[in-house]
Amino acid sequence: MVKVSRVVKDAGMPTEPYAVADLQADLRAFRDARDWGKFHDPKSLVLALVGEVGELAELFQWVPADEARAEFSSGQRQVRAGEEMADVFIYLLNLADVLDIDLLDAARQKLAAAAERFPESRHQGVAPHKS
Ligand SMILES: [Mg+2]
Repeated sequence: MVKVSRVVKDAGMPTEPYAVADLQADLRAFRDARDWGKFHDPKSLVLALVGEVGELAELFQWVPADEARAEFSSGQRQVRAGEEMADVFIYLLNLADVLDIDLLDAARQKLAAAAERFPESRHQGVAPHKS
């Protein structure tokens, strides 16, 4: 018997806290119920992730940069952006899962490193650049 959370079964709004770990468990259950784990090698997941990033990028293609925020903040374009972002997130979580990487911890460590690398006192309103 595969465990799937009530959130996925009901496909409604969660009535209790739903953490990244809960989503990963649901994704694992979804995958295993279909015997798709054999397809979830890291290389295939990276390619799927890149494909979904491409689908997200395609939505923004040809939209003027100064109009993108307004265009994608409501309506059907916001819905579509959310769908593609969810696809990206899901494949990223699947990749982290098969590589046994705690993505939240990795992201927290990157944020701490960025805060040290780009102190507020020297980077107010200045975009970081490679030198
Ligand atoms: Mg997609």
